[in-house]
Amino acid sequence: MAVETASVDFTFHPNSNPMPEADRLKAFENLGFGTLFSDHMAVIRWSMDRGWHGAEITARAPFPVDPASAVLHYAQEIFEGMKAYRSAEGKAVLFRPEENARRFNESARRMSMPELPEDLFLQAVEKLVQADAKWIPTGEGSLYLRPFMFASEAFLGVRPAREYIFCVIASPVGPYFKGGAKPVTIWATAKYTRAAPGGTGAAKCGGNYAASLVAQAEAQAQGCDQVVFLDAAEHKWVEELGGMNVFFVMDDGSLVTPPLGGTILPGITRNSLITLARDEGLTVHERPYSFEDWKADAESGKVKEAFACGTAAVVAGIGTVKFPGGEFKINGGETGEVTLKLREKLVSIQRGQSNDQHNWVQAI
Ligand code: PMP
Repeated sequence: MAVETASVDFTFHPNSNPMPEADRLKAFENLGFGTLFSDHMAVIRWSMDRGWHGAEITARAPFPVDPASAVLHYAQEIFEGMKAYRSAEGKAVLFRPEENARRFNESARRMSMPELPEDLFLQAVEKLVQADAKWIPTGEGSLYLRPFMFASEAFLGVRPAREYIFCVIASPVGPYFKGGAKPVTIWATAKYTRAAPGGTGAAKCGGNYAASLVAQAEAQAQGCDQVVFLDAAEHKWVEELGGMNVFFVMDDGSLVTPPLGGTILPGITRNSLITLARDEGLTVHERPYSFEDWKADAESGKVKEAFACGTAAVVAGIGTVKFPGGEFKINGGETGEVTLKLREKLVSIQRGQSNDQHNWVQAI
């Protein structure tokens, strides 16, 4: 569906019952991931006849959802994940938010949903962060932002819905993995695949995650933190983790990461790390890498390090890989030096603590 030129003004309805400061600060002492929510949300509605309208920042509250809403039946839903950080000077900053706005519309196109003008996406995110700036934790934490859109039309026919709700909610978060900076253990299996050629793997749509849950549960049952998916056609090539992209550091100092080809989510962290690694003079190959090669290269020492990356966990070393019938370690099960260096570089830019030569950080 075509992008409309919207002239949409946001109205602000402050939450008349915000969380008391003492409760918020208490909750900040023990932050998990995605369990605590801020006082407000941004909402914009779309209908076939009115386009985008009714933009507001309002008290976070449940939506009344008709039982026939298309999203409940055919999963027309997309989302984004991004973070607001507190910079060294105490300012609220966003990291490459326009990339999320762009990817959101790529997902919308794939799922036959209306595109949201990037400017409206960015305004919704910025206005919510301004309204809930006190919800950005200091220190290691950040305010995770979840823009999403779902088909709200009450209609059971199988066709693109004619009404949608776009919303942004915010959740103060601590580390994504319970082990903190410890390297993660991942589970590789060919039993389940995430995305087939021609499918929805490059879109950030809820259905991809629903389909990954059984594999993630299997990973957890095997004592692993995350699942790594292999390609659907040959069950041979490493694609990505349930919610993160993956990189390998080779013994010649180069980096390898699976190429984007429609079955992998084009991660913004992945893209940023490719740029930062090249800034450091490292060669980065976006090329297919097989699970068999990974195993052999880990054993021979040709692959020195492996790490996963994404907005939630930023960069996490992969220490151990388990698969049906065996396991192997990378770098003796420890997070490697290149991984730590890239992580440090990215984190310090995101938090406004170092030279942002690519203009990735936006103060709001
Ligand atoms: N792959 C998948 C399947 C994801 O859900 C995510 C998280 N959005 C990523 C990769 C990493 O993307 P990003 O760096 O943009 O967070």
